Amino acid sequence: MIMCKFCGYRCDTFRGLSNHIKNVHGITSKEYHILIHGPGKCKICGSDTEFKNLNIGFRDFCSVKCANVYKGMQDEIRKKISLAQKDKPRKRHSKETKTLISKNSKKQWKNNRDKMLSVVRDIKTRQKISMSLTGSDNFFGFKTKINKLIRSSDKYQEWRLMVFGRDNFTC
Ligand SMILES: [Zn+2]
Ligand SMILES: [Zn+2]
Repeated sequence: MIMCKFCGYRCDTFRGLSNHIKNVHGITSKEYHILIHGPGKCKICGSDTEFKNLNIGFRDFCSVKCANVYKGMQDEIRKKISLAQKDKPRKRHSKETKTLISKNSKKQWKNNRDKMLSVVRDIKTRQKISMSLTGSDNFFGFKTKINKLIRSSDKYQEWRLMVFGRDNFTC
């Protein structure tokens, strides 16, 4: 629906409006358009441009030459924008941010490590760890042999000293 800006008369088409303007207000579509939107001026040189119709209004340029100049300008702008985006350095973390990230990650790692070490490993977990270390799907026993475990135990150490004491540390 198009409305006549002079009297509010509504038309379905621009042709209808054009006829209405001519018959009722006694002016041409061009004159009507100038009264409403102002005269058409070339975007490049500012000369008067050709009036097309009520829908399109005035042409943007007085000539093909001016239209091409404008097109060239637009291309230039587009090129400049894409170049500027290309040259734009990627956002980097500042030195302070880097230090902060490093500090935080170190803290986090330490917390995790302490947590990991404080976990009491039950026999199943130990088996799993052992299996993952040996790369086998079945658990064949701990690598540390029972003898070594006994030897490094407190009771063994005690007994060993007792033996030495008995022999007065002589062989
Ligand atoms: Zn009217
Ligand atoms: Zn022009």
